[in-house]
Parts: sequence; structure tokens; C-alpha cells
Amino acid sequence: MTKMLIIGPPGSGKGTQAERISERLGVVAISTGDIFRANVKGETPLGIEAKKYMDAGDFVPDSVTNKMVRDRLSESDVEGGFLLDGYPRTTAQVDYLDGILATSEEKLDVVLQLTADDEELVHRLLGRAKETGRSDDNEAVIRHRLDLYHEQTEAVVAKYAERGILTQVDGIGGIDEVTDRVMNAIKSAQAA
Ligand code: AMP
Repeated sequence: MTKMLIIGPPGSGKGTQAERISERLGVVAISTGDIFRANVKGETPLGIEAKKYMDAGDFVPDSVTNKMVRDRLSESDVEGGFLLDGYPRTTAQVDYLDGILATSEEKLDVVLQLTADDEELVHRLLGRAKETGRSDDNEAVIRHRLDLYHEQTEAVVAKYAERGILTQVDGIGGIDEVTDRVMNAIKSAQAA
């Protein structure tokens, strides 16, 4: 049973790679960004609250995000393993996830970080903005999201590196090429 995280800056392709890992390893992929977007679309109270932050490229407050993840991880399809995409993004979220896993004596097997250069990411995201019309894909918001990644999420990555469960993959290249790197990295990490 695999329990893993995929972490990467906005535009690094983590959602696409998460779907592929999920299919190949048979674990459920849970994207906090997707859950928020579904709630925004459905105009639920959670969505109305989250939208304010998302449109500005800010993090949704930990209190809201943590509870949402705890509820999702208590569902039955998670029993065979999970891949969390986009969570944790702050060190407080790392502590919270540690707490959730500790109650069932579970721990993470692998934390995968997709890496990419900021200018490449801005270029990719501006392209995506034209295709999807995502409201948080304009240049000022994109740069703010990248800043938050450097300021807050790199500290998350450092924590997992200290624990010896971090594996880094170059996210630049064709989608299939990156998937090959990702699957090889997961195999090596699981064999270690
Ligand atoms: P993503 O699709 O992962 O880029 O997430 C889109 C947006 O959802 C982010 O810019 C945040 O506003 C919000 N979000 C997703 N995951 C988290 C998280 N773990 N903590 C706080 N906000 C989040």
C-alpha cells in the first residue's frame, strides 16, 4: 500500500503526473486544488470561502484546508493507499498530516518533488490560462503563487528531505518523459 505526496510549484504538471501515478499504482489521487475548484463551481459554503483566496493566488487558511483533508482521508477508498497532490503546502499542514497519520499508525512512503525553473513555469501557466480560463492564471497571480511556493512550500520539502523520504524529479520535458522519470523515481524510492 502506497501513501505518497506529490509536491511541485504551480505549472510543474503535478496534477497530470498525479493522475498517471494513481492509474499505474492503483491508489486514489487527492488534489486539494481540485476539491476546492469543485466546491467553487458548486457554490458550496466551502467554495465561496475558498474562492476569495484562490483568485488572489493565496493559500486557503490552514484551518479550512486541514479539515477538508482530514474528512477526505477518512473515506473508504483511501484504505488501499493515496497520493496527495497539493497538500501539505505549509509546515503547519505537515504537522497536521503527521497527526492524522499517527492516529492510524501510518506513515508516508514517498514524497515526490517535481522541479522546474520559475520562468519556464510562468510561460507554461500563461499558456494554460488561454486554454482553461482559470481565474488564478494571470501573470501577477502566477508570480504570487510562485513566491508563496518558495517562501512556504520549500520549507515543507526540506522537512521531508530531513526525514529521508524525499525524491526529486526534473519536471521539464515531455509529459511521457516526465512520467517515466517519476515512475522510476518511485520504484527506486520504494526499493530503498
Ligand atoms: P492547485 O490546483 O494545487 O494549484 O491549487 C489551486 C489553489 O487552491 C491554490 O492556489 C490555493 O489557493 C488553493 N489550495 C490548494 N491546496 C492548498 C493547500 N494545501 N493549502 C492552501 N491552499 C490550497
